[in-house]
Amino acid sequence: MVVTRFAPSPTGYLHIGGLRTALYSYLWAKRKGGKFLLRIEDTDLKRNSQEATEAIVEAFKWVGLSHDGEVFYQSKRFDIYKKYVQQLLDEGKAYYCYMSSEEKNELYEKQKANKQRTKYDGRYRDFEGTPPEGVEPVVRIKSPLSGEISFIDGIKGEIKFNVEDILDDFVIARGDGTPLYNFVVAIDDALMGVTEVIRGDDHISNTPKQIVVYKALGFDIPKFYHVPMILNPSGKKLSKRDGAMDVMEYKKDGFLPEALLNFLIRLGWSHGDQELFSFEEMSELFDPNDINKSASAYNAEKLLWINSQYIKTASTQRLVEVLKDYDLDLSGFEKTEELLGLLRDRAKDMNELKQMISSIINKPTQYEQKAVDKFLKGDALDILEAFNKELKSKGEVTLTDEFKEVANNFLESKGLKLKHLAQPIRIAIVGSAVSPSVFDVLSIVGYNEVVQRIDNLIKNQKGLERE
Ligand code: GLU
Repeated sequence: MVVTRFAPSPTGYLHIGGLRTALYSYLWAKRKGGKFLLRIEDTDLKRNSQEATEAIVEAFKWVGLSHDGEVFYQSKRFDIYKKYVQQLLDEGKAYYCYMSSEEKNELYEKQKANKQRTKYDGRYRDFEGTPPEGVEPVVRIKSPLSGEISFIDGIKGEIKFNVEDILDDFVIARGDGTPLYNFVVAIDDALMGVTEVIRGDDHISNTPKQIVVYKALGFDIPKFYHVPMILNPSGKKLSKRDGAMDVMEYKKDGFLPEALLNFLIRLGWSHGDQELFSFEEMSELFDPNDINKSASAYNAEKLLWINSQYIKTASTQRLVEVLKDYDLDLSGFEKTEELLGLLRDRAKDMNELKQMISSIINKPTQYEQKAVDKFLKGDALDILEAFNKELKSKGEVTLTDEFKEVANNFLESKGLKLKHLAQPIRIAIVGSAVSPSVFDVLSIVGYNEVVQRIDNLIKNQKGLERE
């Protein structure tokens, strides 16, 4: 069975690089009918890991990912790690090292002066004498002293390390007994039954150390996939300004979670030229072995485009549901279907959609001055007033085509063109000269409200004229 995991260090929130790794891990486990686990790597606890976990779980919930089973917290597993430290000590695969920090500094200085890589020199590896007093020994693992460590990475192919270039007998437990990162990661992955590790390629240099631990403890080594980073468009590390922000910020910015996931899966993975993938398609098609070897560039425009495609094709029910998160409740509104039918093609994000909807369903609170100056000049207000009179004389007008007919007849009788009416009506109805097809909007706003809004504009403008 394929078991994957997402193993964030609780830095307070989930960012998109993390979400992408989580998504890849999730999809692969699901495609294989396996499990996707969540482990919080909180051994180096500076923040409240509970809070950070909640932030991650909240983000998972928003995007619709869920982990299987309980959450694993490294901070609750110290007894397990200690047991394995002891096992390695007992088996002679690890040892106490009494080197003081002064000695360590001295050693490193000397190596630097000789232009050598700084590394532990193994001085306590085979130590049998009397330990020096007053030093709390760290525990070091016996790493191979020469040769190669290699593994087949599912993305990058064979990766080889020359032991002499990267390894030494690294510390697995501090003087106070707390275990160290590469040691606990390997133990956890093994005990959690993780078969495939999908993580950022900034972890490649940790992998040989973890392999040393797997081997020392006799655990199976999982398959690794080191995913290239997401870079900004200039090829640099992604900063907050570029989009490396809390996943929940994307919600605030009006992105649909399905669009964000679609964007993320494509950042580093492709299936022909296809850009849009439903979640079901992602789960059927995604294979980490097909992840790109090179880094991918974050493209904010593409994300917006994908978002607009998702808004365009989202069901009315889905949009109504999502709009609630943006404090817009359309459940009491009668013409939701028509309203969204009119607007869903025009919005790039949910904030924009909300704003467009609000401008139609609510009376304008002000009129855009630029539009007023441009379109309410000359006799425009009188024309509008006459049109409203015409509307009032009709008693009730309902459908788009009926509004259009009243307007056309009116314009014809006055020898006017649609342009004389359309923009002034828009200003009256939505407060600016920008709206979808004007007669559609009138039909959605409804007869009484239309007449009232036109009256309001006339009153407002004529009042100003009189002042
Ligand atoms: N905790 C690590 C991180 O947040 C991930 C470790 C791993 O995936 O092995 O970068």
